[in-house]
Amino acid sequence: MEKSQYRRRDRLVKEKRHDTYKEDKKWPEPTACTECNSVYLEGRWTWYEPPVNANKVLCPACQRIAENYPAGYLELKGSFFQQHRQEMLNLIHNEEKLEKTAHPLERIMVINEENELILITTTGIHIARRIGEAISRAYQGDLSFTYGDGEKTIRVFWNR
Ligand SMILES: [Zn+2]
Repeated sequence: MEKSQYRRRDRLVKEKRHDTYKEDKKWPEPTACTECNSVYLEGRWTWYEPPVNANKVLCPACQRIAENYPAGYLELKGSFFQQHRQEMLNLIHNEEKLEKTAHPLERIMVINEENELILITTTGIHIARRIGEAISRAYQGDLSFTYGDGEKTIRVFWNR
């Protein structure tokens, strides 16, 4: 019973993710970001050599960074981080690299460390969840997340 409920929820999240990508603004093709050089081609932002004739804009991720308007918040709490700081930061940056390579709009904005509270902001919701799940897989602890704003924002909490 519990397992099938989990599967159903997982499927719903995947459908929502698909919808979110479709909802994105359609740009003339090709369009290139003046800041990060990602290119909008075939209906999505990709890492591709920007064509010389490309339309020029600020991509949604660079726009969020410029306006300091994160889509994802990830809070890491507890003493465990302090004891495993470098190892955990390596894991966080590695997960970002993997996600960003496939999805240019999913990036870390800021990592703010304050004693036993680390706050990471992101330009997308999927990278925040991905990092939270990777930390939970590697170090256990308590992981939870809540979506807001019609699943356009996410808050991820991890504690150990
Ligand atoms: Zn950009």
